[in-house]
Amino acid sequence: MILEFRSDRMDRKTILLLAMAFMVLWQCDQPTPRQDLQAGNLFIDSPAIEVEANVQKQDISVSFDYDTSQWIEIMDQAPFHLDLRYATPDNFVQRSIYPCGRCFLRRKAAQALIALRDSLIRSGYGLVIWDCYRPVQAQQALWTAYPHATYVTPPEKGSMHSRGLAIDVGLTDMAGRVLDLGSTFDYFGREAHRDYPGHPVRIQERRQLLDRWMESAGFAGIRTEWWHFSYRRMSAPLDSFQWTCLSGND
Ligand SMILES: [Zn+2]
Repeated sequence: MILEFRSDRMDRKTILLLAMAFMVLWQCDQPTPRQDLQAGNLFIDSPAIEVEANVQKQDISVSFDYDTSQWIEIMDQAPFHLDLRYATPDNFVQRSIYPCGRCFLRRKAAQALIALRDSLIRSGYGLVIWDCYRPVQAQQALWTAYPHATYVTPPEKGSMHSRGLAIDVGLTDMAGRVLDLGSTFDYFGREAHRDYPGHPVRIQERRQLLDRWMESAGFAGIRTEWWHFSYRRMSAPLDSFQWTCLSGND
């Protein structure tokens, strides 16, 4: 009985040691993330990491035409759909304010927005983006065209857009079709106010959904524009950086 018991213990101990040895050998055989990058077989659905993987694989340099220590560019890629109105005459001043449309935000604000990506996709929604960082020169142009402080921030005060901390967004479906949230972008009237009580429940629920997503990312809305959100977890100075126009930018 005693011998059998000891024999059982030995067997268990041997099995345990063999299992530990197997685990050590198995782990040694697994490639580290860096090895994966060098082998070029890493699949992560993220443009930034894909760029890094390409840099590792091909030893090429990637250059940006803006200060990446300050800014991140939001690309026109689902669930984010760019419709940068001030690069077109399709806005309330009926002329283009920007030579071309690109969407920049301060790094933390952009990262907060990008972090919503998976949640939006899982829920079957997207965001249409109408405006992002707005250089002070563009804010001046808007003010000159429409000098009403209720709807356009005076240049001397400075817009959160000119700090790179504000974004104008609406909801889309999975296909990128813009959903009705009660008024068009830049509609100057009570229907655009967050507290307007006259919209159907469906519209109010969509607004609440958009608010919840943006607020969870650190953005806060303003009373008169349901589409406007300012990032409140950092401050930044007004900026006059003007982006270059690449082929493909409107
Ligand atoms: Zn805005």
